Amino acid sequence: MDYQGHFESAIEALHAEKRYRVFADLERIAGQFPKALWRHDGGSREITVWCSNDYLGMGQHESVVAAMTQTARGMGTGAGGTRNISGTNHPLVELERELADLHGKEAALVFTSGFVSNEASISTIAKLLPDCLIISDELNHASMIEGVRKSGAKKQIFRHNDVAHLEELLKAAAPDRPKLVVFESVYSMDGDIAPIAEIVALAEKYNAMTYIDEVHAVGMYGPRGGGICEREGLAARLDVIEGTLAKAYGVLGGYIAGTRAMVDAVRSYAPGFIFTTALPPALAAAATASIRHLKESQAERDGQQRQAARAKAVFADADLPVMPSQTHIVPLLVGDADLCKKASDRLLERHGIYIQPINYPTVPRGTERLRITPTPLHGDALIETLRDALVETFRAVGIPFASQRPAQDERASMATPLVVAQAGG
Ligand SMILES: *Cc1c(COP(=O)(O)O)cnc(C)c1O
Repeated sequence: MDYQGHFESAIEALHAEKRYRVFADLERIAGQFPKALWRHDGGSREITVWCSNDYLGMGQHESVVAAMTQTARGMGTGAGGTRNISGTNHPLVELERELADLHGKEAALVFTSGFVSNEASISTIAKLLPDCLIISDELNHASMIEGVRKSGAKKQIFRHNDVAHLEELLKAAAPDRPKLVVFESVYSMDGDIAPIAEIVALAEKYNAMTYIDEVHAVGMYGPRGGGICEREGLAARLDVIEGTLAKAYGVLGGYIAGTRAMVDAVRSYAPGFIFTTALPPALAAAATASIRHLKESQAERDGQQRQAARAKAVFADADLPVMPSQTHIVPLLVGDADLCKKASDRLLERHGIYIQPINYPTVPRGTERLRITPTPLHGDALIETLRDALVETFRAVGIPFASQRPAQDERASMATPLVVAQAGG
């Protein structure tokens, strides 16, 4: 048996499709966001990061760094075990209170990552409901797909954000059958937003439970950072709100918020919660500091929206193919895996700009893109430098500009095919 040969040919297949992933070796410089050192060929070089999900720069915020370092000094590094075996560190209790309050829910439960929170919660909730039918948006994140799969429940997929299709599926199910509608608020690759009010109204009409992933919205939308549901006054009508502490909040961890009974059931039954060491106290304290700051401060949210809008306008003026997006996410259509990788390499090597290529299976083939995430700390001058670098790169690599593309390239912004689209996050 040639074990190594199997691994090598699996990797070879990725190379042949031009989607073998290479990670840049970066060292972020606290206090100089969005600058980082790129370690390469034995040397290092200062570069600008344009694709971070530390969306508001909170990972370097004074109060967040202080909470983490002080708590580590006071309580040490690790949590010391699972919460079952070693008890719960007090900062985690405070964090869960903060999260319940953020979403106006009775209770919250923290996991070691957003991925784990989705996988563990969706699978456990669906398992606890007899003969549950899961109805899931076709572009849901890989962690939600894993949760659905692990539940063993029957699932149906509705076309992305298509409420008519969702209603068809809800209507066809037996009225007394438990149903769980699983979807996201902000979809991170296109930057579009789900019609949450309509989805919630349908769920109420057909007596289904709702589970929303607000990973790309918490901290950034709503007057206190409670996400799109808070912004639209809908949080009370969602049964489960899931989020991450790792993106806009700049730390690590994931969570769900909802009723006391639902949260207690997940806490008591989910293996992905029970059998793993808890989040370290320093991380919990840092996340709490970040959430508290963003509950009070609107400046980061305003700055992010302003710089994202500015970037979209500046790129469109330069004839760059900006894909329509309703949020802070700015995708530029490339439409070819090889060109996407080449553009990313050139931006880094020639211009000192880091933008990771986004290829299949993170997005459907033919919609490969550069996904740009302006933050409040990407000033106007940086945006102009980026525009010039992009124009040079698109020309040099041979990527069509917006006016050179056939109209149907709009497809990239429309409902995408029924592939297992797994957002890279
Ligand atoms: C990143 C991501 C997750 C996972 O969150 P982590 O905290 O990074 O594990 C879940 N859902 C979506 C939509 C994501 O993009």
